[in-house]
Amino acid sequence: MRFDIVTIFPGFFDSVFAQGIVRRAQAEGLVEIRMHDLRDFTHDRHRTVDDRPFGGGEGMVLKPEPLAEALEALGVRPRAGRGSSKSASQHVSESAVGRGAATDKQDASPSTSIASAISAQDDKGLRGTRVILLSAQGRVFTQAVARELAGLERVVLICGRYEGVDERINEFYCDMELSIGDYVLSGGEPAAVVVVDATMRLIPGVLGNEASGEFESFGAADAEIDVDVEGVPRSQHGAGGLLDYPHYTRPAEFGGLETPQVLMNGDHAQIRRWRREQQLKKTLKNRPELLERAALSAEDRRMLEALRDGG
Ligand code: SAH
Repeated sequence: MRFDIVTIFPGFFDSVFAQGIVRRAQAEGLVEIRMHDLRDFTHDRHRTVDDRPFGGGEGMVLKPEPLAEALEALGVRPRAGRGSSKSASQHVSESAVGRGAATDKQDASPSTSIASAISAQDDKGLRGTRVILLSAQGRVFTQAVARELAGLERVVLICGRYEGVDERINEFYCDMELSIGDYVLSGGEPAAVVVVDATMRLIPGVLGNEASGEFESFGAADAEIDVDVEGVPRSQHGAGGLLDYPHYTRPAEFGGLETPQVLMNGDHAQIRRWRREQQLKKTLKNRPELLERAALSAEDRRMLEALRDGG
C-alpha cells in the first residue's frame, strides 16, 4: 500500500516513520510512504504557498494552485459530478467523467458513505486511490475508517496549515475530509501520522500476528472476525467494538499490587471470561457509548448487568 503525503514540512515525518512497525513495514515492502513538498509546486522566487483570505479575517490560507499541481503530479484528477461552478465543470478532465457523484459528503450514514466513496472512485486511472483532506471539519477518523483505508492501494493525504486549505481543493479533488478528533492542530502533519500508523498496521503481514489487530480496542465485531485462534470460540474473543482488557507481565507483584490470580492459573476458559468482563467494565467506565454499537452475546449482557448493579 502506498501513502502520498502533501505537506509544507516534509522533514516533519523523518523520525516518526523511521521507527518501529512503520519502519519495518516499509523495509519489507508492505508499505511505501512518500512525502511531497508543496513548495516544489510553486513558481515564484519566494515559493509562496499561502495567501490572505477573501472576506478578511485572521491568518493565511493555502493557495489552490500549488496543491492542484502537486495532486496532478501524483496522477490525481479532479472529481467529477460536483458542478459547483462553470469553471469547475470546465476543469474536469475526460478521465474523471464517470467517477460518479456519490461521495461521503452527501451521504448520511458513515459506514455506507465510506463504502460509496470508495466504490465511486474506482475508475481506471485511480483504482483503489483515495484522496483525503486532513481537516478539523472532517468526519472523525476511527478504527472502522482505518480498516476501510487498509483495503486500498493508495491513500493521498493533504496536510493543511494556517487557517486551512482553499475550499476548491476539497471540492475538486478530495474524496473525504478526515479529522483525528475534536480539537484543532496547527497542521495536518500529526493527523497524517495518525492515519498512516493506524491504517498500515491493519495491512496483512504488517503485524507479526495477523489476528492481533482484531483483538484489541475497537476490534471488529465478532461476526466480522475471520481469523480464529486455536479453535477458541469467536464469541469469546473478538473485542466486538469494546475497549481492550488490561494486560500484565512480569513481575507478578509490582509495588505491592498483585497480577490478578485468574491470569496465573492456566485455565483458559476462565481467563477468556475474565478478560471479556474486564473489557465490558472498562468500556462501561470510560466509553459507555461504545456499548450501544458493540456486538454483545447473551453472556456479555448478563455480565454487563452485573457490572452495572455491582458498580
Ligand atoms: N481554521 C481551521 C483550523 C485550521 S488548523 C478550523 O477551525 O477548522 C490548520 C490545519 O491543521 C488544517 O487545515 C488541517 O489540515 C489540520 N488540522 C487541524 N486540526 C485537525 C484535526 N482535528 N484533524 C485533522 N487535521 C487537522
